[in-house]
Formats: sequence, structure tokens, C-alpha cells
Amino acid sequence: MADRDKLADYHRRRDFARTREPEGRAPAAQDGGEEASFVVQIHDASTMHFDFRLEADGVLKSWAVPKGPSDDPHDKRLAMPTEDHPLDYRDFEGAIAEGEYGAGAVIVWDEGGYRNLTADRRGRPVPVAEAVEKGHVSFRLDGHKLRGGYSLTRIRGRGGEREAWLLVKRTDAYASRHVAPDPRRARSALSGHTLGQVRAAAEAGEGATWHSDRGGA
Ligand code: MN
Repeated sequence: MADRDKLADYHRRRDFARTREPEGRAPAAQDGGEEASFVVQIHDASTMHFDFRLEADGVLKSWAVPKGPSDDPHDKRLAMPTEDHPLDYRDFEGAIAEGEYGAGAVIVWDEGGYRNLTADRRGRPVPVAEAVEKGHVSFRLDGHKLRGGYSLTRIRGRGGEREAWLLVKRTDAYASRHVAPDPRRARSALSGHTLGQVRAAAEAGEGATWHSDRGGA
């Protein structure tokens, strides 16, 4: 039951009779060193932001990144931790209804696998969940848009409202000086839809959720 408790905050904030967001299955027992998944969603809530999520210990560790990830190592992007999300949230696109927590349209801007590169001072690997606890995680992304090394480092607070992290691109062959993605024009890596298209489809009653081709089971 400990795994379900990780999602207590997630469940407490949502009424699943009113939102099409996933309720969250029980996490599969894994974490055997194989590649885990990451997702970056764009969320047009009261304030537009990106949600950066890394799979660890059967949930998605999550940060809200107001300006979105950058592939320029000089851009240090503020990342505010948010509650752990269920793994199946990585496929979620749709419009969260007015009046509900996080109301607004969501698209999957990027997704793929990542490898944990976090090591302690002696060079021994540190599991992601432990690295997050300690305040520094280093990883390599293999997404459609985001590639190469990144790090997330806690810079302020711990477990409180003021807690803040920085998401920074590491200097490698994938580093560049691209301008920040424009969230209103950006297209989903899963469906090709924009936020506006997702919102319009929901308003037209075409169902609040776009299902990805990963759906299957
Ligand atoms: Mn969000």
C-alpha cells in the first residue's frame, strides 16, 4: 500500500467523477535498472507552464517549469516540485474541466526514455528516488525533442511551499542555443495537436481525452 500512498496528494486534489485524468493504477514492481520514461506536458492552467516528469519507484516525480526546458546550458530553468503523479499520466492529453484542480488544456509536448546518471562522490550510482530526496538528479533524455544530459538541483527549501529547483541542460553534443518553445504553437509529440485543438475538441464534446497510440491494454 506504500506505493498507493505516494499518490495520496494526487488523489486528494482530484474528483475522478469530474476529471478524465487517470486515477492511477497500482505501480508495477520494477526499477530494475532498465530505461525509465519521462514526459513533458504543456498545461494551460491559470498560469501556462510545462510539467516535467521522471519515472521513479512506480510514480512520476514531477516539477512545474514555468518557462519550459531549454537545450541551452546557460538557461537555468526554475522548476517547482509538484505532487507525484501516476505512471499512466504520461499519456494524458485533454482538457481538465473548469472548476477542477488544474483546469485547462494539457498536451504531451515530449516523451521518451531516460537514463539515470546520478552518482555519489565515489562514483557509485544513486537511484532516482533517493537522488530526488537528496536534492540532485542527473540524467540523459532520449525524447523526440529533448536529448542529452540534464540535471535537476534543489536550490531552496525542502518539502515546503518555497521549495525550488533548477532544470539545466548539461554541455554535450545536444546542447544548442535554440529559443524557448512557444507553448501556444507547440504540438504534441503523441498526437500532433496544439493546446487550442485539444481545448476546441473538448468544448465540442469530442471527449476530453486524446488517446495515444500506446493505449493498447
Ligand atoms: Mn501542471
